Amino acid sequence: MSAAPLSEAKSNTPFYIATGREVEAFQAAYNSCLPVMLQGPTGCGKTRLVEYMAHRFGVPLYTVSCHEDMTASDLLGRYVLVDGNTEWVDGPLTKAVRDGGICYLDEIVEARQDATVAIHSLTDHRRELFLERKGGEVLRASKDFSLVVSYNPGYQSVLKDLKTSTRQRMVAIELGFPEPDIEEKILIESGVEADSAVALVRLGAVIRRGSITGLREVASTRTLIAAGKLMAHGLSFKEAATLAIAGPLTDDIELRAGLEALIDTYQ
Ligand code: ADP
Repeated sequence: MSAAPLSEAKSNTPFYIATGREVEAFQAAYNSCLPVMLQGPTGCGKTRLVEYMAHRFGVPLYTVSCHEDMTASDLLGRYVLVDGNTEWVDGPLTKAVRDGGICYLDEIVEARQDATVAIHSLTDHRRELFLERKGGEVLRASKDFSLVVSYNPGYQSVLKDLKTSTRQRMVAIELGFPEPDIEEKILIESGVEADSAVALVRLGAVIRRGSITGLREVASTRTLIAAGKLMAHGLSFKEAATLAIAGPLTDDIELRAGLEALIDTYQ
């Protein structure tokens, strides 16, 4: 689990180009002490937006990649043995609540509900965290604390969907893939050559329009950037798109053949 305060380590502003009104929405939610739920497909810029906002607010960012083996202690903290003594060590959520900062629970629906139950009292007007294992300590969230969760609505099973009561306490900011001109700019600023960016964005758009039925996920901005970087290092459009887009998207032989045929028509 990564719990490093990213924004402390980086002095430069994380590169982020707004694709709509998400920066203003995030700022308003933060100023109102309301938790944020970022919705959108994998690789569309959710994590980058949180990094950018943490830098803008000047607060540390604690990122937790949620998974089903995660426990409440991974978020809250635990007693550990230090030089023969038992000491309490705050988890990332507790650190952010105590000292201020953004706690970002990436892919929250991957976590079991017993792991994330602690966030309930933090998401309502109390903004309190209850540390049962630490003698029932109750922490009031710092004014600089913000909880942000991300969630890919199209991907998870209905069973693992977020609880309605949790959802209703959050401000939902929806991120989609950027418009072509913005996505080209993102690719170019990420080190992709202009001609490659135009071709890759066109390929991405046609895959997203559903031209290959049966894909679980479509080509994300992340995959387009990866393909563009391979091209900048000497690979052809076809090689790069096959390696960075078709390969990661599917193992299915037929879908893969369909994607490769599509790549052929766009080079
Ligand atoms: P997600 O968290 O939604 O899976 P990321 O935030 O990790 O996606 O985005 C994947 C990559 O795409 C980033 O590392 C960044 O290079 C790029 N990216 C996506 N959207 C943007 C954007 N709006 N501005 C700048 N870079 C972006």
